[in-house]
Amino acid sequence: MNKHFGVTSGSNLRCRGWRQEGLLRLLENVLAVGEDPANLVVYAALGKAARDWPSHDKIVETLMTMSDDETLVVQSGKPIGLLKTHDKAPIVIMANCNMVGQWAKADNFYELQRRNLICWGGLTAGDWQYIGSQGVIQGTYEIFVRIAERHFNNSLAGRFILTAGLGGMGGSQPLAGRMAGAVILCVEIDEERIAKRLANGYLDHRARDLDDALALVGAAKRERRATSIGVLGNAADIYETLLARGIVPDVVTDQTSAHDLIYGYVPSGRSLDEVRRMRRDDPDTLMQESRATIVRHVRAMLGFKRAGSVVFDNGNLIRTQARDSGVTDAFDIQIFTEAYLRPLFARAIGPFRWISLANDRDDIRKIDDHLLQLFPDNRILANWITLARQHVPFEGLPARIAWLGHGERTALALGVNRMVRELSLIHISE
Ligand code: NAD
Repeated sequence: MNKHFGVTSGSNLRCRGWRQEGLLRLLENVLAVGEDPANLVVYAALGKAARDWPSHDKIVETLMTMSDDETLVVQSGKPIGLLKTHDKAPIVIMANCNMVGQWAKADNFYELQRRNLICWGGLTAGDWQYIGSQGVIQGTYEIFVRIAERHFNNSLAGRFILTAGLGGMGGSQPLAGRMAGAVILCVEIDEERIAKRLANGYLDHRARDLDDALALVGAAKRERRATSIGVLGNAADIYETLLARGIVPDVVTDQTSAHDLIYGYVPSGRSLDEVRRMRRDDPDTLMQESRATIVRHVRAMLGFKRAGSVVFDNGNLIRTQARDSGVTDAFDIQIFTEAYLRPLFARAIGPFRWISLANDRDDIRKIDDHLLQLFPDNRILANWITLARQHVPFEGLPARIAWLGHGERTALALGVNRMVRELSLIHISE
């Protein structure tokens, strides 16, 4: 396929209004920053922007021609209707991968996917909100900062975080760990993913092997220097080896695609080429082997927990997969939402993102400045904005994410509206 994946700049409209144009630009953006855009995959192995290319092309064509009083209905990545509504109605209504209750099982999903009746939209791929790794960096940074607050006297300096997976989401871990002040070691089975994170500045070092990695970790810990190290290998094997050697990290988690036993997780003893072949020719064996490796992987995580590490499931279902394969105590590992984010949600603090549809970095800079003035007493927010400016490169359309509380979100939105109005007045008077 000879598609070009890029973003659109400036204020020229290709659609009949900004609301349609904005959504079109967001769709272009998720593919421009996605992991495998030729297959419409944005992240997490199968998180897609549209069901298939004909669906994608039809969505684009519709956004370009529809008027303000119409609503496009998208069902799991496929456009299924354009309805006459009114100019206050949403431009697009969508629902992705609605599998509920007893049907929410991998086998049902694969069967529906094989028949091209469903696609998995992830959290932000299918609804075109993905902004590259920044979105999850903030979430991961927030978790690490909360761990520091709760377990390490507010500081991760000289602390060792062990994790795995440097994919679309997991690739943010090394940067978030460094921003939080820790030494973070990331195990990854795919050379290319390590190279990609080194190239975009999210990962500092690539170790030659595990011993080299441990030497780098040791030196950084002694110097209390924040840094990130990637090492090639299978996470289950390396976690077991570390545990057997009596090495106890301060924090242990994992962000391999353990939620997906066929298209995501890589079992021990298999090369990537073998796994790619098995995905096509022998998915059942692959699934069995993935399960067996996850059992070892989670048992090692439980071992670290018993030895004193802070261990948590970072939203990849690894503890659920292990429990379903017979690890009865897998849920002794807490999930990040329950352990660290729920207390924030309970106070109505949550993620909020904004994107410059005109592709103008200055928009984000001005909003960053505004935010720092607006909430001078919010220390974690001010830290994040200052560090994000310094460390987080923009991918695709410039964007920013921040965790804001109830009332703060409205205050920021009104502030930005005011800034736009004042800017328009300046343009008009010129
Ligand atoms: P991805 O498929 O882009 O990347 C996964 C990476 O793990 C790949 O680079 C793969 O090579 C590597 N990997 C797979 N098996 C491995 C193994 N055994 N050992 C070492 N490396 C291995 O996925 P992603 O977008 O990075 O998402 C990772 C997981 O995080 C998914 O399960 C996803 O659902 C979950 N997730 C969590 C959050 C959150 O907020 N915590 C958000 C989104 C996604």
